[in-house]
Amino acid sequence: MSLEGRKINFAAGPAKLPEEVLLKMQEEQLNFNGLGVSVIEMSHRSKEFGVLLNETISLIRELMNVPDNFEILFMQGGGTGQFAAIPLNLKGNHDHADYIVTGAWSSKAAEEAEKYIKVKKVFQPSKPYVTVPDQEKWVHDEKAAYLYYCANETVHGIEFTPTAPESHNVPLVADVSSNFMARPFDFKDHGVVFGGAQKNLGAAGLTIVIVRKDLIGKQQAITPAVFSYKEMIANNSLYNTPPTGGIYTTNLVLKWIKSKGGLQAIYELNLQKSGLIYGIIDNSNGFYHCAVDKRYRSIMNVCFRIGGPSGNEDLEAEFLKGAADRNMISLKGHRSVGGIRASLYNAITLEETQVLATWMNEFQKAHSA
Ligand code: PMP
Repeated sequence: MSLEGRKINFAAGPAKLPEEVLLKMQEEQLNFNGLGVSVIEMSHRSKEFGVLLNETISLIRELMNVPDNFEILFMQGGGTGQFAAIPLNLKGNHDHADYIVTGAWSSKAAEEAEKYIKVKKVFQPSKPYVTVPDQEKWVHDEKAAYLYYCANETVHGIEFTPTAPESHNVPLVADVSSNFMARPFDFKDHGVVFGGAQKNLGAAGLTIVIVRKDLIGKQQAITPAVFSYKEMIANNSLYNTPPTGGIYTTNLVLKWIKSKGGLQAIYELNLQKSGLIYGIIDNSNGFYHCAVDKRYRSIMNVCFRIGGPSGNEDLEAEFLKGAADRNMISLKGHRSVGGIRASLYNAITLEETQVLATWMNEFQKAHSA
């Protein structure tokens, strides 16, 4: 039951879980609630698992303040599965869907959707991804089945803040995989809000999908049953065997979020953590460089280069090595972007962020002498 030897884990996902959650899992691994079995050994149709499942749904509803006209579903297939499930379920009689492409993940979502619906991009995406282009210039259509956006681009560190895009009277679809419950969420204008659990809410394998009730039942005939919102809702997410261990893990994480004061408190801490790192970047005289438009900087994935806008790979390698020597891991940026990415998900503490901040200051000092 020791936490000794644990690293400071800035991974982009799967990512760090709160120690309290891991210890609870360890404690309950052999004998859950006095039942003499582990949760992952129990029938998903048992009364006891049903209690856990419903409690998990209620906790999401309570913490995120999910309105009554939304259903909460547990699915599989990850965020990527939803890239297909969205057009499969929402096409209805519409001819096309509108996509806002601000980074790698919304780009992938649009590409996958093209198999099932005509995709129109509201602006021509331009690389490198560093901002959300001016909304005034977007071209959309009130006839679209939905308007899709990625609330936080994990690879590029671009987050829609402080509000979602203008919907123009079509349901918004939000991929919140990497900022799920990182801040209070406003469901206004949304039709579907989805994300994998493996960053802020638990383990890989569970995909949480929150769907507005009036959008259910528009699925295409070819929709696989496991991807059908209608089928899943009719069966309270028990159409087939759900990821029981994943639901259990998320249940514990949600209780942990609640114990920390809920989403507002979590958000304030996330602002503090990311503010600390962005502050160092901004005060580094260009030694650290974050390319993302300040209005859209992610509070979850802080991406930066070292030694100038294009980065100095030798310096970056040295920085990563020094970080590893100081117990910090998984700070390497995504291969398509390079540089450094510090993922500061909910479970990362302020103290852990301070260790990174101290190393950044020390590293800069050593190289500007
Ligand atoms: N959307 C975003 C924003 C992501 O960060 C990821 C995964 N990193 C995905 C979708 C894809 O999720 P999955 O790997 O669960 O399919």
